[in-house]
Amino acid sequence: MTLLPGHTDDDRFREECGIFGIFGHSDAAAHTALGLHALQHRGQEAAGIVSYDNNQFFSHRALGLVGDNFNSAKVIEKLKGHAAIGHNRYSTTGETLLRNVQPLFAELHSGGFSLAHNGNLTNALTLRRELIGRGSIFQSTSDTEVIIHLVATSQATTLIDKLIDALSHVEGAYSLVTLTRDALIGVRGPTGVRPLVLGKVGDAYVMTSESCALDIIGGEVIREVEAGEMIIVNEEGIKSLRPFPEQKTRFCVFEYVYFARPDSVIENRNVYGARKRIGMELAKESHCDADLVVPVPDSGVPAAIGYAQASGVPFELGIIRNHYVGRTFIEPTDQVRHLGVKLKHNPNSASIEGKRVVLVDDSIVRGTTSRKIVNMVREAGAKEIHMRIASPPTTHSCYYGVDTPEREQLMAARYNVQEMCEQINADSLAFVSMDGLYRAMGEANRNNECPQFCDACFTGEYPIRLTDRDSGVGKNQKDLFAGLAEVSAG
Ligand code: SF4
Repeated sequence: MTLLPGHTDDDRFREECGIFGIFGHSDAAAHTALGLHALQHRGQEAAGIVSYDNNQFFSHRALGLVGDNFNSAKVIEKLKGHAAIGHNRYSTTGETLLRNVQPLFAELHSGGFSLAHNGNLTNALTLRRELIGRGSIFQSTSDTEVIIHLVATSQATTLIDKLIDALSHVEGAYSLVTLTRDALIGVRGPTGVRPLVLGKVGDAYVMTSESCALDIIGGEVIREVEAGEMIIVNEEGIKSLRPFPEQKTRFCVFEYVYFARPDSVIENRNVYGARKRIGMELAKESHCDADLVVPVPDSGVPAAIGYAQASGVPFELGIIRNHYVGRTFIEPTDQVRHLGVKLKHNPNSASIEGKRVVLVDDSIVRGTTSRKIVNMVREAGAKEIHMRIASPPTTHSCYYGVDTPEREQLMAARYNVQEMCEQINADSLAFVSMDGLYRAMGEANRNNECPQFCDACFTGEYPIRLTDRDSGVGKNQKDLFAGLAEVSAG
């Protein structure tokens, strides 16, 4: 049995990780499981929860989905206590082994310390080499473990100061929740690339990746954790620290394009509304005469609605998505291999036949899915197919916690737009411009001197130093992980 080649999700940037932490709730683990369930789109490979009951830490970590692993009272009841943190994983570094599943946990001199991380450290390999040289023994191949060793070896006095000291050495993108014997601590990296929101359910404080995880537990958003902010929640209440030198904030604009759940609100922008506005900008910039606007479901739907509203061209569900195909469909026999993309998407021929179709998707990564979908819609009888993409061409890999192919595999890094159009067999192809994307976010345009967001996968302008990559270790995060594995083996 082999993995089905060209499965549609193989041709997307993959979400990073989702984190959740709660303090002061008698049902902390159950709320964490629900929060992780709402964040399932941010990582489907593994999930874990660590809780604390004022006496002992409890942990359950497993490969697979939240619903498959935290679905019984037996599991939840074992995760005792008033405080818990949880993590959904899609591995950006470190293979999918149980030892890499977060939250990570260590017994430090100051007591138990558990950590869940969303993001990617861009100097993890460099730090790991130094730490191993000083005698550290690593248990995992995850970049996150570096933080634990830095905390363990810090000369600072209190655990909070050790954590601040540790984080002052790391580079890259991170939002963290940590659980100690007396506190839940949330930290958003100084550049604020990855999201972290502070909320409340009853009297309990929550910190989590997206607001949708607060909705599911009946909680409310208080505010975003700000870039460079550390929030400490303990029996005495809540405290905010600003321990890092201030930096220009560069939130990941791809969260709005694709990663975040449409019903989440990030930095006061509803994600669904932002996607619709991108579609509107796209319609203004690259209108074409057509009969229908058809989204590539599900990720192209909000932008297609925006495109249809702005252009006046009717919106139709011309492609139906099968929601019951797992992310890694196992091909049962060689005979079904040729069915390819139809396992997940099927054209609604009755609405497409004889029509000039504007097909809207969120992005083109390798281009393999776009080509298959265009051909599928053409075979269903479409007269013309005009592909419209709700992001600029993705020309560069991400090093900040998103799994992307290496640059040579990105279609937009190899071909210009006209060549891409020919490659995917469309009648026309257009991407929203960088200024159009920024306008959809409420900015006048992209301020090239001082951009508001991280947009490095479109521009190649990386806002945070890529120390490991520039030392020649690898071309993308997975390659950097290979470097990590090599170190641990050596
Ligand atoms: Fe987001 Fe792209 Fe920046 Fe990565 S490189 S953090 S995906 S905007």
